[in-house]
Amino acid sequence: MPRRKKTFPCGHKGYGQKCHRCDQEQKAREQEVEACAQKRQQKLEWEASFDRDPIDLRALPDYVVVKARAIIDGLNNQRNYREFGGKRLRHDRRIISIPVTRNYRMICRDAGSMAVPEAVLSHEDYNVCKPGS
Ligand SMILES: [Zn+2]
Repeated sequence: MPRRKKTFPCGHKGYGQKCHRCDQEQKAREQEVEACAQKRQQKLEWEASFDRDPIDLRALPDYVVVKARAIIDGLNNQRNYREFGGKRLRHDRRIISIPVTRNYRMICRDAGSMAVPEAVLSHEDYNVCKPGS
């Protein structure tokens, strides 16, 4: 007996026990839901990660956050601020400015043995304090 197309309850026509078209759509929907859930989870983890920062980085673009954390980790591991291109401010030598990206600077306070991060400022915020040497 030749295989004949049949009409499924959904209205689509096809061969087999179930409608492949609806089956594929269903799988695509499930994948989408799964991807959404993953994205939501990643977003929650990303938001929670800010609680572990010694300074508030929430307002910054993601790539600035990542670079700022690398610097913070380095300072915590006793690396010198100069390794990150940091400089003391001319008008206040206790304050150290470390470039994070082209447009962002990390302001640190000299705590004797290490530079303690205080804030990350954008170039616009920062224009008032130009680094010395
Ligand atoms: Zn169908």
